[in-house]
Amino acid sequence: MRLIVQKYGGTSVGNPERIRKVAKRLLETQREGCRVVAVISAMAGVTDNLIKLARETSPQPSEREMDVLLATGERAAIALTAMAVNALGGKAVSLSGAEAGVLTDRTHMRAKIANINPKLIEELLADDYIVVVAGFQGQTPEGDTTTLGRGGSDLTAIALAGALNADACQIYTDVDGVFTCDPRIVSDAQKLDEIAYDELLELAGAGAKVMQARAVEFAKKFSVPFEVRSSFNLRSGTVAKEETTHMENVVIRGVTLERNQAKVTIASVPDVPGTASRIFSAIGAANILVDMIVQNALEQGATDISFTINEGEVAQAEQLLRRIVNQVGASALTARSGLAKLSVVGIGMRSHSGVAARMFDCLGRGGINIQLISTSDIKIAVVIDQSEGDRAARLTHEAFGLSGSVAPSA
Ligand code: ADP
Ligand code: ASP
Ligand code: MG
Repeated sequence: MRLIVQKYGGTSVGNPERIRKVAKRLLETQREGCRVVAVISAMAGVTDNLIKLARETSPQPSEREMDVLLATGERAAIALTAMAVNALGGKAVSLSGAEAGVLTDRTHMRAKIANINPKLIEELLADDYIVVVAGFQGQTPEGDTTTLGRGGSDLTAIALAGALNADACQIYTDVDGVFTCDPRIVSDAQKLDEIAYDELLELAGAGAKVMQARAVEFAKKFSVPFEVRSSFNLRSGTVAKEETTHMENVVIRGVTLERNQAKVTIASVPDVPGTASRIFSAIGAANILVDMIVQNALEQGATDISFTINEGEVAQAEQLLRRIVNQVGASALTARSGLAKLSVVGIGMRSHSGVAARMFDCLGRGGINIQLISTSDIKIAVVIDQSEGDRAARLTHEAFGLSGSVAPSA
């Protein structure tokens, strides 16, 4: 009998009516002759609300207690989903991450899955239950609750599909699949039928919220193909899988905009070994994630170092760096918020030249100033003013022929 893992995101279980629809789909899948494991997220807005509540209650809540708190969102949603299946005459049982056998390391709020012991799930499946598992959570070897980072239910689904050797893994969300750009930014973005893990990984890492980057990384590492599709209709979605040669014919698969970025610049840093290490060790020790880094050697033994971080972490970074700037003898520290990162991604870039020039030309003609540039073999990313972000995304999307009726550039 086929085994299928279906993950439903927050919007898909956003109210009782939607939960009943999910329950119906789970039952239909079972009636088609499948064993069914459902991975459920907290209802839309619940996780954000819990985070807000914590901040209003304590200036610096411990990460352990944050995990205990955040895990409640998914636990409520699994109980409601199982109730809805049972109310329709089905047979469902809900399991927390710990009960489902999800063992993690001890890094609270962004724990890594160490192992999955799916014994209980398998027993329940053998008894014809629809097994409804809480996404986004697990437990440490000591039994403490952990969570897997924002969007972490995607990771639970992929990891369970891998551990159970499932025949299919479907990620149900509020859009029809992975698009050439967030359809909320570019209205004529197109749904992709397929995408290579590496492309989705770069898109997710560059801010496309549709899949958690760590989940895609896991899927690639353990070769778990999956489909992203809508919970609101029956249309087929986007299949993410190992790349095939014909995928390389498409130069750009998609465009992503990540908002709320900031650029920190340390000017006239003495150009001696060890300086960059001091700066980034301090930032790393404070768990501040650095994205792009640009170092530009000036004349007379000095260099400017710029890097981007999330806007919300600028104050902390400035406080940390002020001391180091004095110690290393740099001349100034400046930070600029209100920026966005625009990225174009495609494995076809490896074998096509001129992609960067085309992107820069399009932005230049649109009067959009580029503040930083970074590249990988399948991505070109630029930092621009956030106020121009949406327009820049639309212009770039169009310049690469990704819009509506136009076929993607070959
Ligand atoms: P879920 O709650 O189901 O996990 P998310 O909100 O995490 O859903 O992710 C789905 C959202 O991702 C969509 O509503 C869409 O706005 C956004 N998104 C960003 N980039 C893309 C893209 N390239 N393709 C599809 N959706 C995207
Ligand atoms: N509820 C968690 C979040 O909002 C996990 C998820 O939805 O995937 O980040
Ligand atoms: Mg999500």
